Amino acid sequence: MNRWMNSPARGCNQYKPTFIEHLANCLTHGLWIIPSIYASWVMLESASTLGQKANAILFGLALSCLFLVSTSFHTISWCRKQSPLRFYLHISDRAVIYVFIAASYTPWLTLKKVGWIGYCIFWMVWICAVLGVAYSYCFYERYKRLETVLYLVLGIGPSVAVLDVQCSNDGMYELALGGLVYVLGVIFFKSDGIIPCAHAIWHMFVVAGAGLHLYAIQTYLMGSSSKVQPPAHHFIGDG
Ligand SMILES: [Zn+2]
Repeated sequence: MNRWMNSPARGCNQYKPTFIEHLANCLTHGLWIIPSIYASWVMLESASTLGQKANAILFGLALSCLFLVSTSFHTISWCRKQSPLRFYLHISDRAVIYVFIAASYTPWLTLKKVGWIGYCIFWMVWICAVLGVAYSYCFYERYKRLETVLYLVLGIGPSVAVLDVQCSNDGMYELALGGLVYVLGVIFFKSDGIIPCAHAIWHMFVVAGAGLHLYAIQTYLMGSSSKVQPPAHHFIGDG
């Protein structure tokens, strides 16, 4: 048996990670729990309006829960192969990603002027997230291709739509790059038993994507001295 990788899972069976893979799975998200809580606190501290504060709390909770739930699940599945707690943590591990993606787009759709299209995207994103959570509970480990499609639709769809409705380009490159990182990461998410430590590499892509979104929200949407310039017609209207 290879120390770095086991054979791919067959049918509805789950992939069995090696010792090194278990360790990598726990560390690649576990190391980010405290930094993510700290970053959330910094974001909340720098928020100046009620909307910014609400978004900082939403994003911060989703970010921290993402790493906390993932690390709990990987630790439990390493120690106890099958238990009800492992089952619920596994479902939550999948479900929290849908909520996190929705929480990453929400600040762009609520703190900037996006018009009715933006509000439609806002509701679409959250309806998709709720459907994703419901899917995780109802179809545990079934229809895995559908699960991947849901991730991709929720990951890419809003970023394209947000790019379309935003009046200014500030933060848009980071937002698009973050979406691209998630999409590339899915290649590793689907490569257990094909690429050594594939799941831990997927974790790293999630960290990179989340980091880019965190940076963009913190830099362009938080604080009274928001670096987002209002669209040109506002200047004309004001003058
Ligand atoms: Zn994981």
